[in-house]
Amino acid sequence: MARSPSLHVAVIGAGIVGAAAAHFLAAAGARVTLLDASGPAAGATGASDGAVSVASKKPGPMMDLARHARAFYGSCEADGLLRGLFHRRSTFLVARTPLEADLVAEHGADLAAAGERVLDVDRPTLLARIPGLGEGVCFALEIPDDGHALGYEITQRLLQRSSVAVRRNAPVSEIVMQGGQAVGVAVRGELLAADAVLVAAGIGSVGLLGLGDILIPRKGQMVVTDRAAAGRPAIDGHLMAASYLAAKRGIVRDNAHIGLVIDPLVTGQFLIGGSREDHRADQATDAVTISAILRDALDLYPPLRERRVLRTFAGVRTASRDGLPIIGPHPHLAGVTVATGFEGDGICLGPFMGASAARMILGEAPGVDLSLLSPQRFAAVEALA
Ligand SMILES: Cc1cc2nc3c(=O)[nH]c(=O)nc-3n(C[C@H](O)[C@H](O)[C@H](O)COP(=O)(O)OP(=O)(O)OC[C@H]3O[C@@H](n4cnc5c(N)ncnc54)[C@H](O)[C@@H]3O)c2cc1C
Repeated sequence: MARSPSLHVAVIGAGIVGAAAAHFLAAAGARVTLLDASGPAAGATGASDGAVSVASKKPGPMMDLARHARAFYGSCEADGLLRGLFHRRSTFLVARTPLEADLVAEHGADLAAAGERVLDVDRPTLLARIPGLGEGVCFALEIPDDGHALGYEITQRLLQRSSVAVRRNAPVSEIVMQGGQAVGVAVRGELLAADAVLVAAGIGSVGLLGLGDILIPRKGQMVVTDRAAAGRPAIDGHLMAASYLAAKRGIVRDNAHIGLVIDPLVTGQFLIGGSREDHRADQATDAVTISAILRDALDLYPPLRERRVLRTFAGVRTASRDGLPIIGPHPHLAGVTVATGFEGDGICLGPFMGASAARMILGEAPGVDLSLLSPQRFAAVEALA
């Protein structure tokens, strides 16, 4: 990126997206103030799984975008920025009924059409890789090039490796405009002057930009187990049930639906999720949902019965009404750029999207065409007034 020493950017939100944008802006020489109502990774970034997964994406722009974003993780790993934090591992898409098998096969064909490697796995091979897998699994595909990263670790590293000033406990109440141009943000009644503002506030973007018709909160509950192995993933890949694909492809929309994933962490623990509860912005977990997640997980992978549940947690995804992230200049507020709406994909997309937002603010073209994700698309249909 070209150096921009004189520009002062206020970034609202120190989640993975805001932290990445702040990092790459500062690397280009901009002065950055990163503000968070609470602290780094206090939102969805610190209450999520970390699948850096192309396998999980809806076919179309999201699948293509995820391929760029995963490659960006690879290059940040290779250049040292994210070294040791991005772990490559396979995703196994698994079906337990003939109907689910059709869905997995269709999804696999979509992945292959997008250029992704997709491998057939017969049951003996699968059992050798995932001993103890449920008897109900009748069909599986392996997507070998996926990975995993923990959102809070990525956020912390991006901030550590930059000179960005982070202001904690700094809730932005307003973007201050003068003559149609952003001149700063208001925090606890004070104006923090800035030349440009990036809104990367997750679900907090609703209040800041009046996006209540466009963004909805989608709560997800998850379970963390104790270690089944010491210092390495307990199984040789991430298990993604067809029920997860059904939710992502928009086939099922039901707040009681569990889109099951069983994620083996490098600590030897399992992260198991999750629910997809629309219009829920609280972080409470409840026995009905957690027991439904665990029942389904035990059916798919019975060895979990040996595990202790260490904790449960919930996070809030920020979903846009058309299912795509929102990134680009605000159509009516000059000097304001928006980067939100990453739903259940922001750990995968976050570093790449943050770097892309930084480029946009610096007046450069992002690495790939992101015009489909522009906030302009809502202005065109009157919602973003
Ligand atoms: C249960 C669950 C599982 C998930 N699993 C995955 C996964 O496996 N893979 C994946 O890619 N993604 C996953 N996600 C999605 C991912 O966590 C999010 O898409 C991503 O973290 C969004 O990052 P963000 O920076 O946009 O928002 P956030 O992380 O929500 O950050 C926004 C920040 O803005 C701050 N803020 C809000 N309002 C204001 C204000 N007015 N002033 C100042 N600060 C403000 C908040 O305090 C917060 O720190 C999951 C999410 C959940 C909930």
